[in-house]
Amino acid sequence: MKKTFANDTTQMPLIPLATAQKDTRAQPSYQRRFHVMAKPGGSQCNIDCQYCFYLHKEQLLHQPKQPRMDEATLAQFIKSYIESQDGPEVVFSWQGGEPTLLGLDYYRQVVALQRQYCPPGVTIQNDLQTNGLLLNDDWCRFLKEENFLVGLSIDGPRELHDHYRVTRSGKPTFDRVIAAADCLKRHGVPFNALTVVNRLNAQQPLAVYRFLTRELGATYIQFTPCVEPKVYQSTAPQFWTPQQMPALGSPQSKPGHPMSVVTDWSVDPDDWGHFLTVVFEEWVNNDLGRVLVNLFETAVAQTLGQPSQLCVTAEFCGKGLAIEHDGAVYSCDHYVYPEYRVGRIQDHPLNEMVFSTRQLAFGLAKRDSLPAYCRACPHLKLCWGECPKNRLLTTPDGEPGLNYLCSGLRHFFDEVAPMLTGIAVLLRQSEPR
Ligand code: SF4
Ligand code: SF4
Repeated sequence: MKKTFANDTTQMPLIPLATAQKDTRAQPSYQRRFHVMAKPGGSQCNIDCQYCFYLHKEQLLHQPKQPRMDEATLAQFIKSYIESQDGPEVVFSWQGGEPTLLGLDYYRQVVALQRQYCPPGVTIQNDLQTNGLLLNDDWCRFLKEENFLVGLSIDGPRELHDHYRVTRSGKPTFDRVIAAADCLKRHGVPFNALTVVNRLNAQQPLAVYRFLTRELGATYIQFTPCVEPKVYQSTAPQFWTPQQMPALGSPQSKPGHPMSVVTDWSVDPDDWGHFLTVVFEEWVNNDLGRVLVNLFETAVAQTLGQPSQLCVTAEFCGKGLAIEHDGAVYSCDHYVYPEYRVGRIQDHPLNEMVFSTRQLAFGLAKRDSLPAYCRACPHLKLCWGECPKNRLLTTPDGEPGLNYLCSGLRHFFDEVAPMLTGIAVLLRQSEPR
């Protein structure tokens, strides 16, 4: 199928750049840094969240019933991931599917391999993103001993969490997630809240935020908007036809309409803007400096003129790839589709896939495919058109490639821009002279 707008990178050959190799000069001019989301258990999961963007990979990628990255592939990945980066710290992220399904011994093997390949002077950090259902004392003891950071998926108080996050038989999971959080706290394992903002919980911003901060006790929160095109199971991002891309503000650009471009559980773009604005005000008034919210921290940093801390609000991306259980590497965690497969760890070291003409073009396309509507936007340098996977709409001029969340993002930035400037002034004043 023909791509709907320019910057097709999927047919490009894999040609390593000069920067794929370590700069060994006395004064290096660059450092190789990137991130790979590892999915050693593929898409396999023990629950069945209605909005999950990954469960369907079992069919799309023809995965076996119980995918498992074998020891040789795991060792190759760990070795290459360490060797392909410069700097004092290497961060591994383990996700799925549900990564704990592989069992505790699998991760004992992971840390043993990391120790084997870690050179002196380098520190290894591990993150585990989990629904928490399998966490128990044994797991938490291990996570504490090995200094893992846990990302725990939770969507707010019981009635909001249990609406979409259910078991295969439709049973609620809230109590089991709270039990996991209690276990993590008992063992002193640091954890973040990973909260998907969907069509339902987006309508209750304060209930969600206050639950996460006051009841769960989270001091780091990652909010992710749920945006799922109806064709996401079969059609890779940017392969939508122009007929599938409704205009900004049209009924089809909202969830719930029979002809909507997105699933019913996707967040309404205007609710997303309202959610962010309300939570931002609450955060500024009560929790600034105490609670870290991913989207707010980066907006403050960008207002200070610093680079974005998140790929979605950066000018370029392409440094956050994904590896599947079979060793296949994809351009991004949200682009695990055959079209965006960069190569296999068995055939190429990671540095040659990440620092390649093809992956560079993927990252540059985030900026270079922006419609004129975004390029003229007063908030461009805070937003950069958000993630290309969400660019499902056409602009008022009929140009394809506008972000589905645009109306909400504009509202949010309009509302909080003066506060962001105020925070930036205060932070500058508090800097030592
Ligand atoms: S495609 Fe989206 S999620 Fe992936 S690296 Fe780029 S901005 Fe980030
Ligand atoms: S707010 Fe809308 S127009 Fe502005 S950069 Fe973001 S997506 Fe583009």
